[in-house]
Amino acid sequence: MGVEDKLPAGVLLTTVEGLAGYMRKASFWPATFGLACCAIEMMTSGGPKYDLGRFGMEVFRASPRQADLMIVAGRVSQKMAPVLRQIYDQMPEPKWVLSMGVCASSGGMFNNYAIVQGVDHVVPVDMYLPGCPPRPEMLIDAITKLHKEVQGTKMGAHRAAEIVERENAALNA
Ligand code: SF4
Repeated sequence: MGVEDKLPAGVLLTTVEGLAGYMRKASFWPATFGLACCAIEMMTSGGPKYDLGRFGMEVFRASPRQADLMIVAGRVSQKMAPVLRQIYDQMPEPKWVLSMGVCASSGGMFNNYAIVQGVDHVVPVDMYLPGCPPRPEMLIDAITKLHKEVQGTKMGAHRAAEIVERENAALNA
């Protein structure tokens, strides 16, 4: 018989790591950072109709130091790429990146010299969201799917290193 069986009903067992994961996903704070038309849908997601606040995300932070989620909403120009990278570097670990829309994920219709052909050339991406633009429901769905990853992140984990490791494993498989 396990410890759980001996405890009265209603007693919750968890680990500090599990609790930290739960707190993180319930207070996910995105950086205020929009690049193009997709950003309009991102802003709409925070409004009263779609109410991202239901998921603990009502606060979009103006400072990257206070943000743990970067939503890349729109195409990334070559000139903006170093700025985006700097913002990413200024966000504390652990942090996550959501690539919103086809332009952020692959350059989309802008197959030209001025646009980065996928933001994963600049920062590691945790979640790709298709669409042009993705609707607020799709963004919310992607964020709630990302919650599972946030919940499972180990304390002290370095996200960028984890992603590079995962990608290398996929390449070698
Ligand atoms: Fe604009 Fe569509 Fe590109 Fe989003 S995916 S930035 S809506 S063109």
